[in-house]
Amino acid sequence: MKNNSYKNKAAISEKLKTISKREADLFYSLCDKKPNVIKTKNFKNALLKSGLKINDNRLHNLFRKLDSSGDEIHFEDFKKIISSSELLVEKALRGELALPDFSDFSKSIDKMFDEVIKNKSGELASYIPPLAKVDPDQFGISIVTVDGQIYQKGDYNVDFSLQSMCKPFNYCFALEKLGLELVHKHVGQEPSGRQFNDLTLLTRSLVEKSNKKFTRIPFNPMINAGAIMTAGLINSDDTYEKRLNFVKEQYGKLIGWSANSKFDSKFPRFNKDVAREENFTGYNNLAIGYLLMATGNLPGKKNKLKKDLNTNKNEFDFYIEPTVVDALKLYFSICSLEMTSTEVAMAAATLANNGVCPVTQSRVLNQKTVRDCLPILQSSGMYDASGAFFQEVGLPAKSGVGGGVFLVVPQLMGICIFSPRLDEQGNSVRGIEMAKRITSKYLVHIFDGAMTNADRVNPRIPISKWRANSCGEAIWAASIGDIRTLERLASEQKDLSIGNSDMRTPMHLAAAEGQLEVLQFLLEQGVKPKPDRWGGYGYFDAKNNNHKKILNVLDKLNMKFLKPNHLVEEPNGETDEVAKYDDELMVSELLFAAARNDITGIRQLIAKGVPVHAGNFD
Ligand code: GLU
Repeated sequence: MKNNSYKNKAAISEKLKTISKREADLFYSLCDKKPNVIKTKNFKNALLKSGLKINDNRLHNLFRKLDSSGDEIHFEDFKKIISSSELLVEKALRGELALPDFSDFSKSIDKMFDEVIKNKSGELASYIPPLAKVDPDQFGISIVTVDGQIYQKGDYNVDFSLQSMCKPFNYCFALEKLGLELVHKHVGQEPSGRQFNDLTLLTRSLVEKSNKKFTRIPFNPMINAGAIMTAGLINSDDTYEKRLNFVKEQYGKLIGWSANSKFDSKFPRFNKDVAREENFTGYNNLAIGYLLMATGNLPGKKNKLKKDLNTNKNEFDFYIEPTVVDALKLYFSICSLEMTSTEVAMAAATLANNGVCPVTQSRVLNQKTVRDCLPILQSSGMYDASGAFFQEVGLPAKSGVGGGVFLVVPQLMGICIFSPRLDEQGNSVRGIEMAKRITSKYLVHIFDGAMTNADRVNPRIPISKWRANSCGEAIWAASIGDIRTLERLASEQKDLSIGNSDMRTPMHLAAAEGQLEVLQFLLEQGVKPKPDRWGGYGYFDAKNNNHKKILNVLDKLNMKFLKPNHLVEEPNGETDEVAKYDDELMVSELLFAAARNDITGIRQLIAKGVPVHAGNFD
């Protein structure tokens, strides 16, 4: 008994030690000159720079405490302040949020935005009159990560008409209520390759016993026929009012709205004028409604024909099928909901986060619902350009004729771009261009796999670590003569001429270690000898180590190899930190961060416990 309680105590004190070491590392990462206090302003800035927002519900208490903390904070107070949101703060300070280099990422999206804004091609949608009256120059983009980091630029706070962007969410609501099997008795999962409002239906043979051999259903829930069908499936026994309210509430949850939330999202707005105008002009949709009715697959109560009250014997009361009206009325209403790009990006981030809203942490959709929805978005979300869009951009996405397009990067972020000029397929021109630029810079295409080249960046990894990682493997392989690894890296389009933070390249290491075969392989790959940070070429590494065969090969290149401008004949000892700290990758990340003057990166590494004095093999 005694022994046990001793063990428990020891375990607890061990645990406490790790906890306060973690907290101490976080604290020291924020220190400037004095080691025992941090500036309140620095702490706030570090959190905001990580992409988190002041009105994030999860940080509300923390920011309140910071506001009453004065200019400086001591360690004991720091521990109390972070206690309400310690994990989130830890992730933010250590650079472990979904986008670790948030500032860098933001700058590069800013640049893309400034280029894309010049594109003024495309036309406004005109078949729903109010959509033809919006300001065509509007342009906004919002990105929300699964950890609730938020990037927004331009007209991110402008309400716009959701239109077809509502289709995937409606589909999710129907799936949640009825399940996959039942929903897909009414609507298919196949790309249609046709325009969004096409009247063609998919003919499907019936496997069950029935006197009918075939049934006709819409191709998928992302084209109008399918979307009218899924709208018809949502709580079909309720009144219109209740159904619309249910849908608005679900959207509220998806975008992070809640009655007592501090967060910016507002309850979804219904634009009655847009819905009415669409009712007046949406002949195609009215036709689709009746077409669906004719298949017998549109759900709804069967209404008996009312008695003809018309007294004129040459006329009768024209009957309008209420089942069709109900489905269309709800569909038009949901299309006419208005939101901002940040709100839609939040809904997309909820999909990226498997159904949990990043800022409220509430589960809005089941994981299975999200997983069933994303493949349909991938194959059919971008009208009849879905195949080409997916091939190039590689992300599930949905656009609407209101000028919005959202993209889901699973497990990473939701993106929404709003700009109302549309291309021939009805997709936002700037939306498509932004999406293409984002995937050509970042490794977020679902099928990117290991294929990469030096210009593309994995946004999930801090840039310094990405550099350390990508050159580290090649340098290591070169130094030990591991040709197989170098061949693999070359086939993955990794740049084998990239050096580490001291610009020491695989060729330097091959020369220094006398790896002749590696040197020949690198030359065959077109890698050219480059100077290191001190202007020295691998030639001198080979010379110092007397690798004659290497010198012969390099001599044949007929190049002028300069000597390093400082040469330490016999380096004096090692730093203590190298001896103690053995995580080479982190050390090289630290050196990269220092080389690119990345103070945030250095602070993040300190927060992870890496000693600032640590050095690498050089
Ligand atoms: N409410 C629109 C319609 O059905 C949506 C079209 C769209 O955004 O693709 O015509």
